[in-house]
Amino acid sequence: MEILHDIQLQPYNSFRTRALAKFFCEPESAEQIKEVLSRFPDEEKLALGGGCNLFFTKNFDGLVIRPAVKGISLLDETADELTVEAGAAEDWDGFVDYCVRRGLSGLENLSLIPGTVGAAPVQNIGAYGAEVKDVITVVKSIDIKSGATVDFDNGACRFAYRDSIFKQMRRYVVTSVIFRLKKSFVYRKKYVDLNEELNGIDSPSLAQVREAVIRVRERKLPDYRKLPNAGSFFKNPILTFEEKENLLSLCPEAPVFPLDGGVFKTSAAYLIDKAGLKGKREGKVGIYEKHALIIVNYGTDDGKKILSFMQSVQQTVSDRYGIKLEPEVWVF
Ligand SMILES: Cc1cc2nc3c(=O)[nH]c(=O)nc-3n(C[C@H](O)[C@H](O)[C@H](O)COP(=O)(O)OP(=O)(O)OC[C@H]3O[C@@H](n4cnc5c(N)ncnc54)[C@H](O)[C@@H]3O)c2cc1C
Repeated sequence: MEILHDIQLQPYNSFRTRALAKFFCEPESAEQIKEVLSRFPDEEKLALGGGCNLFFTKNFDGLVIRPAVKGISLLDETADELTVEAGAAEDWDGFVDYCVRRGLSGLENLSLIPGTVGAAPVQNIGAYGAEVKDVITVVKSIDIKSGATVDFDNGACRFAYRDSIFKQMRRYVVTSVIFRLKKSFVYRKKYVDLNEELNGIDSPSLAQVREAVIRVRERKLPDYRKLPNAGSFFKNPILTFEEKENLLSLCPEAPVFPLDGGVFKTSAAYLIDKAGLKGKREGKVGIYEKHALIIVNYGTDDGKKILSFMQSVQQTVSDRYGIKLEPEVWVF
């Protein structure tokens, strides 16, 4: 396996910011990942997939490991379910397409999310009322510190809203993910946008749901290959009772949903929009005019400009509503 030096990371992040990686490799197997870890014990490590959920503000003074572990295999079959393993480097939407074509349900609402299979459990990707945690049984990984193979069952992954042990610890390189998918499909009307798109179809097929998700996403979200971005930039904030009361006193119509544990979730997109930031631009960075949660890069290669725009959005929302927006996107 080749170890490259001073590699430009601009093509490897969907915001297209420039930064050099001191070392860069694309191991094709768990064994190659172990080998490279043992060769560079003291370098800082970064596992990289499609780079659709991160950007760089400076050079990365360490080793970028971009797993190239490919392959999809069927592991087990029962009357109702099929267990499938996919390599970390498989394209996420290619894998969803593979499953939908075989009549396997559970991933269809996650169609067209850019990136790799290996990154899907990291932030427990979600869309249209579905989260990947609901169909993952095992995540296979290599421990960056010890070089050992570690398999996490679903409970050990500590999945939560856009969160997991992989995100919390940044200590594991995911090599493959095992999914348990249903052989049957019944559409459940969970998400308004999707229901509207499917309006008129009584019981849509798996393929029709996937196509509807793709149509809605293509309409609403900018294509990062034309207008660089990393999807939803901020997480939906979780509020204490006092924060929720404060928000409702300022904006009585704000969307607020109770969660377990006496906390409340509100919409980051609502807060940004309400603060008048939708469509706002500062130089070559701005909020997408059709979607308040998406920061877009209109032509800078300097990640610091995106970082500073992010901070100004956080400041405005905090000044107006006393709520701190947490980025969903990783800043390196
Ligand atoms: C237009 C657009 C729309 C999007 N829509 C959604 C959406 O609807 N829902 C959603 O949840 N996300 C969405 N995203 C975010 C993004 O697509 C997901 O987070 C995706 O999982 C990122 O995959 P990636 O391979 O590009 O990961 P990267 O960006 O390369 O990495 C993301 C994180 O995962 C880690 N990582 C990557 N690969 C591995 C690995 N093999 N082992 C260990 N750690 C790893 C990285 O270190 C980093 O911390 C969107 C992004 C864009 C650009």
